[in-house]
Amino acid sequence: MRKFITYAAACILLWAGACLPVRADGRIQETQDVITIVIDPGHGGENEGTIENGFQEKSMTMVTARAMYEELSKYDNVEVYLTRTTDVDLGLDERAAFAASVDADFLFSIHYNASLSHELYGSEVWVSAFAPYNAYGYQFGMVQMETMRDMGLFLRGVKTRLGDNGDYYGIIRFAREQEIPAVIIEHCHVDEETDVPFCDSTEDLEAFGRADALSVAKYFGLKSEELGVDYSAYSAGELAAASPNQKVARTTADQTEPDICQITLKDANFNTGETTFEITAADYDSMLLYYSYSLDGGETYSPRQPWPNCDVVEGTYQDIADVTLQIPSGRQPHVVFRAYNLYDLYTESNTVDFLQTFLYAETEGDVEAAAGEAAMEKTADSEETTEPSESSLPGTSTFRPELPEEEQANPQVDFFSFLAVCLVIVVFLLALVVLSQMIADSRRKKRRRQRRRQDGETDQRHR
Ligand SMILES: [Zn+2]
Repeated sequence: MRKFITYAAACILLWAGACLPVRADGRIQETQDVITIVIDPGHGGENEGTIENGFQEKSMTMVTARAMYEELSKYDNVEVYLTRTTDVDLGLDERAAFAASVDADFLFSIHYNASLSHELYGSEVWVSAFAPYNAYGYQFGMVQMETMRDMGLFLRGVKTRLGDNGDYYGIIRFAREQEIPAVIIEHCHVDEETDVPFCDSTEDLEAFGRADALSVAKYFGLKSEELGVDYSAYSAGELAAASPNQKVARTTADQTEPDICQITLKDANFNTGETTFEITAADYDSMLLYYSYSLDGGETYSPRQPWPNCDVVEGTYQDIADVTLQIPSGRQPHVVFRAYNLYDLYTESNTVDFLQTFLYAETEGDVEAAAGEAAMEKTADSEETTEPSESSLPGTSTFRPELPEEEQANPQVDFFSFLAVCLVIVVFLLALVVLSQMIADSRRKKRRRQRRRQDGETDQRHR
């Protein structure tokens, strides 16, 4: 019995340990007394980087890198360098070699992102997959995640990517050859409407630079007399736990799609269009980041929505969640969901087919506001899940699929079928009335015949 209790207690402790958020720790990278920081404004010269949506990455990175340089220069005991200060071509190996020439403690490469699908949004940090640079990058990256979250950005995590020769990204690979930890900071996506407001002015780009400087100051535990700040305690005890000899499991590239994605219909209101699905999904290797949904059986999808309660800093997400969609009037939807993991791989759910068309009156104003809106809600623990105001919270969708012409004709088709059904019922009722009349008539005749027969018999007796 005692053995069992000890075993159970050990299990509970292990379980509690696994459930706890990432333990805080001190910085594991050792540095010189005066810390040398190299900032690399990504791209330059012929290499413009991302050119999307009227943005030009090579000039954006310069604005941010300069602001980061200015801010970091206000700290004590630091030496700060830029790999380039003008619009020139500079090889990735040359950037790493420059960092080595000034004996850098860390190389920060500044970037802005765009995706082929133009669907991605959020902030991420790429780090080396190899010890000890992986752990150094991870400890810095998690600080940067918190800084970006405080600015209001969606988080896409601290990640690694392998190529044929080691780390996929050249700046990280060449820096590692020089024994210098390096990370790529991808601030946000210039081609996606969620992120554009964060980067569409010089002030915004400079704000990113100052934010990056704050992360660096926290990571290294810098002090600044000029700014009146001291992050030495932060660096000594607030960083994510990591070991220099071991790759941080959470940074491992997930190369498989999410393991589970299933939906069940919980509630459909054909008078309002509000429809709630329970979505059950999981990724055993990384975590879930976004979901999207289709109303046409998977032909077109909504923009990606943040996965319910996904927290990249804690590494957690909700694996069973209620999601409420607003089905536009006139639709007979075939609903499919997609669950996306940290590496943008997705798994599609089963399809929920509706046999009935949603038909409800929408006022002029309501049509715009209500159609296609999706509201994410917490399961069970939230009682406000059906409040319509939820749909105006961040993370809601404005997906409004265009109706194909046949589908728009649906309401009329349904009106005529309704008339036909009414007609059939009326004919049926009439037939019923006629039939009952005939039955009643025949009974009456029978009774009369019987009476006549009885009368005859009486007559005979009396005779
Ligand atoms: Zn770039």
